[in-house]
Amino acid sequence: MRLLIVEDEVRLAATLADLLRRHGYTADICHNGIDGRDNAASGIYDLVILDAMLPGMDGFSLLRHLRDNGSTLPVLMLTARSDVADRVRGLDCGADYYLTKPFEPEELLACIRSLLRRKGEIRSEDTVTFGDLCLEQGTFMLTCGERSVRLSRREYDLMELLIRNGKMIVTKEQILLKVWGYDSDAEDNNVEVYVSFLRRKLSHLHSQVQIKTIRLVGYCLEVTE
Ligand code: CA
Repeated sequence: MRLLIVEDEVRLAATLADLLRRHGYTADICHNGIDGRDNAASGIYDLVILDAMLPGMDGFSLLRHLRDNGSTLPVLMLTARSDVADRVRGLDCGADYYLTKPFEPEELLACIRSLLRRKGEIRSEDTVTFGDLCLEQGTFMLTCGERSVRLSRREYDLMELLIRNGKMIVTKEQILLKVWGYDSDAEDNNVEVYVSFLRRKLSHLHSQVQIKTIRLVGYCLEVTE
């Protein structure tokens, strides 16, 4: 899961990113509304944590822009403003949830889980499954029957993306954007290397799930008998 934090308070943004990463999410930060808007619209994020008062473009306008362009991306507004009027404005602009600072980390994490569940990305509390595989978010453990193996951060992100798409093809470009992120220099062969790591682990697990290469396009999962 890749989350975007749009927050101009540098220390708070870093603290949030750290909290999210410790709980198994990938987190990117934007410190102003314009970058926030462009990144939120990129399609690579699963959820946005959005501050209200931002340089460049305020959170309400950013949110309205997203919704006007048809984005259904879950947005959690996180702001110091506790006025009822501001909360109503945020929700009217299309926020899915509103938390006021200071917030309890546990409450924030619960909100995120709830919004992601609602989005249909997480099938149960913290796991995604495909065929005989089960991937656990908090621990990065990939399990097949009695066997399990721990994935690295990047392996986890890649495996999760493949599992969420199941039999649908994921292009190398999507993988680079979702797993390596926007400003990375990673190339197709980085993807190939990580796919080979995962294939080795799948074979170690004796899983019936295989990562199939679709030549010149990307990858999908398939279940072999
Ligand atoms: Ca702010």
